[in-house]
Amino acid sequence: MTAPVKELNLNGKVAVVTGGGGVICSTMAKALAKHGVKTAILDLNLEAAQRVAEEIKSETGIESIGFSANVLERSSLEEAKKAINQQLGKIDFLVNGAGGNAASATSKVEKMAPEDKLEDTFFGLQLEGFDKTFDLNFKGTLLPTLVFASDMVDQKAGGIVNISSMNSYRPLTRIPAYSASKAAINNFTQWLAVHFAKTGVRVNAIAPGFLLTNQNRFLLVDEKTGEATPRGQKITNGTPMERYGTPEELTGTLLYLLSDWSEFITGIVIPVDGGFSAYSGV
Ligand code: NAD
Repeated sequence: MTAPVKELNLNGKVAVVTGGGGVICSTMAKALAKHGVKTAILDLNLEAAQRVAEEIKSETGIESIGFSANVLERSSLEEAKKAINQQLGKIDFLVNGAGGNAASATSKVEKMAPEDKLEDTFFGLQLEGFDKTFDLNFKGTLLPTLVFASDMVDQKAGGIVNISSMNSYRPLTRIPAYSASKAAINNFTQWLAVHFAKTGVRVNAIAPGFLLTNQNRFLLVDEKTGEATPRGQKITNGTPMERYGTPEELTGTLLYLLSDWSEFITGIVIPVDGGFSAYSGV
């Protein structure tokens, strides 16, 4: 007789989702709730966090609470942890989703040409923008992990999923700070996976490909014609499936990485990218 298929074993667990008021992580939190996971939605933007938690409760009937927390302030995370422990119980899962880029660490030109103004190139990048971007993406993953993973180690079980990016494998033009900080997340994912390997806590990451969201639509689609902009065209040309992904298409991988279906998997970064990272462009 063949062994029965393993259960996902997500029901009744407690997940902290940072950046949970945003596009990707609100969708991730909803997918967790649909599988019975109680969610703590953490965001700088309390209103967004509370709105997502309300939507989750009304759509699934599963407990969800929105908290205001800054992933760069240990004290605010510790305060949130106390409230989460009281209201939802011990933490089983952490999704490190808060992240982003800073305009002052973005070059105006893709490839420098001799006639370019220096301020439009590498030489115009601001250290302050690098600090902001590195802090948010890297320390913003490190600090929540320091605060929330202790419950998992205590329980000898748990799962952490970091949100990386296509930039982590090969940098995209113009955004060196974002690219390097996401590369650091991949490296940290592997380091912590090894460090925690005997504790029962697994650490993995998802590298989303290109998603068309309300925030980047104006860059990728011409408002008047509805046609792709040149940057949008480059993205779909570089994606073998020739389309954008959706936040919903990341959720299967998240559930997989947190569930017992992946119980021997730790330290990996899964690209969910329509083939972008596999394609040389030729
Ligand atoms: P988003 O801007 O919609 O969500 C990010 C959320 O993080 C926001 O709600 C914001 O308020 C919150 N946040 C920002 N700083 C914070 C802080 N210091 N403390 C707590 N919360 C903070 O962005 P998104 O597109 O949903 O991105 C989510 C994650 O996915 C990010 O890590 C991003 O780098 C990554 N990502 C996005 C894409 C994409 O195409 N959108 C692709 C690859 C990776």
